[in-house]
Order: sequence, then structure tokens, then C-alpha cells
Amino acid sequence: MKLDGRVAVVTGAGSGMGRAMIEEFHAEGATVVAVDIRQDAAQATIDDLGGNSRGLALAADVSDEADAERVVGEVVSQFGRLDVLCNNAGVLDDYTTALDTTTELWNRVIGVNLGGAFFFSRAALPQMISQGKGAIINTASISAFVAGGGGAAYTASKHGVLGLTKQLAFDYGKHGIRANAICPGAIHTGMTGHLLTPEGANPHVDAAVAATPAGRWGTPQEIAHMALFLASDDAAFIHGAAFTVDGGWVLP
Ligand code: ADP
Repeated sequence: MKLDGRVAVVTGAGSGMGRAMIEEFHAEGATVVAVDIRQDAAQATIDDLGGNSRGLALAADVSDEADAERVVGEVVSQFGRLDVLCNNAGVLDDYTTALDTTTELWNRVIGVNLGGAFFFSRAALPQMISQGKGAIINTASISAFVAGGGGAAYTASKHGVLGLTKQLAFDYGKHGIRANAICPGAIHTGMTGHLLTPEGANPHVDAAVAATPAGRWGTPQEIAHMALFLASDDAAFIHGAAFTVDGGWVLP
């Protein structure tokens, strides 16, 4: 199996893409740690794996640096290593334009989406460096390239996540650490589910999705397949790359 003996931490693992990554990694032999601000949701992700000793759920707010240090400390003390870190927890800003973006909204979106990826990477790097190997996989977005997939704070945060990914790759590749980003398009998850219901339909998103080559929303599993590839040795020569998984929404 591709991740036999590896230990993988996924943030935002209580639902959507993070939950799918946990399932995919676990099926490939990894010991998985589901991190979410919602303890019950993280626990449900682990419980649903079907009872075994290769799973742990931890509650944490990724925007809190002390939580990041605590989670990594618990993982290393319990499992002795940390091979894969997926910085996946994120929040939307509901397409809020700059003039309507309060300082509170700005700080929350940047703090979770970008701060969380930074705090968890910084916490995990010493262990990965000591192993001489590690994979950091950041969930960016097509909003790392284009406007309109989110509002001011979201788009800025995801551009930032891609920048952080490149700099991590640049600085730590020589230590055997690969940092890469996945850039999902419209994926049907808890975060976006309200956009799909007839009552909550967002005309902008619906029209944009209909206009993509795929013509449909993606699934969390389609993102998890890419995460598994990047986590595994199949991606051994891939550093600092951004993989768009968007049904062709953003074409070069
Ligand atoms: P997506 O899969 O598209 O990212 P979801 O809303 O399904 O969307 O999943 C995001 C997950 O991130 C949720 O389970 C949510 O509880 C979690 N999350 C949101 N904010 C934080 C945070 N500050 N710290 C940890 N987890 C968070």
C-alpha cells in the first residue's frame, strides 16, 4: 500500500475534502489523525473508518498557534513520526467585496486559511526535518489564481497559501520535504453545500460550473485522489507545484 507505516495529519477533517483525505490515506495503510475545530465531527470521521488502532481525532483551531504545537506534539509522542500534513481546514467569506469586508471577517479568513497552514507547517517542520522526509499538502483553490471564486479575503488567503507552499518547497526541499498545493474548483462539501440547494443557489457559481468543460461540481474524493498521489512516493520529484483539480474551470 502507498502509505504503509506513514502518519498523516489532516486539518478540517470533520467533513468534505479533509474527511475524504482521511479515508483515502487510511485505506492505503496510513495512521491518520483527523483535526477539526468540531471535535464531534473529527471523531465521527475516525469512528466511521471501522474501528481499528490507526486513527486519532483531535480538536483544534488551526488559527491558534498553540493548538498547532499541541497537535503536532501529541502526534509525535503517540506515533513517533509525522510524514504527511494536509493543511485543509478553511472557511469561505461568502463572496464579500472589500468594502463590505469587516476587519473581523478579514482576520478570520486569513487567520484560518493562511495562518492555519503556516502554524501547522511551522509546527510540523522540525519533526519532518529530523526524519529527512515529509510531505506538506496545502488545500489552496482556483482562487489562488483568479478572482471571483471568493471575495476579497478568501481570494487573498488562497493566493497566500500558494505563496507559502512555494516558499516552503524552496526552503525545505533539501531536507527531503515536499510542499505542494491542490487547487480545487467547485467541490460539493459542507462549505459549499448551501450553494447547491434551490433556496441557496448562487447564480454566479451555478453559471460558472455549468460553463466548465466538466459541466458539474467535483466530489471530495476527486480531491483526495490528488492528495494521495502527492502524499505518496509517486510524487517524489514534485516540489512546490500547484495542481488544479477543477473540471477545467481555469484553463491556461
Ligand atoms: P471543504 O471540504 O470544502 O474545505 P467543509 O466545510 O466540508 O469544506 O470542511 C471544512 C472543515 O474545516 C469543517 O469540518 C470545519 O469544521 C473545519 N474548520 C473550519 N474552521 C476551522 C478551524 N479554525 N480549525 C480547524 N478546523 C476548521
